[in-house]
Amino acid sequence: MSGCQYLGPEFDPRTWDYNSNPTPYCGKPVVSGKSYCHDHYYTVYKRGTAIAGRKKEKEIDQEIEALKKQQEIDEMESYDV
Ligand SMILES: [Zn+2]
Repeated sequence: MSGCQYLGPEFDPRTWDYNSNPTPYCGKPVVSGKSYCHDHYYTVYKRGTAIAGRKKEKEIDQEIEALKKQQEIDEMESYDV
């Protein structure tokens, strides 16, 4: 399975119309090594940090920035072939 695994808040397994939407997931390209795209990785971890507090939130911000930069480097390198 590839693509972001994030399920939107509107997703409900009891009512979801699988015929018109077989994949309720986000499905965007993921952050390497993670199950989510940049936006949802951020969303999911932000939610966790609401409990952990502000300091942790800043660390996550930095981690996201680092991952974005790494992804940009990966993309640049893939053009280089
Ligand atoms: Zn996503």
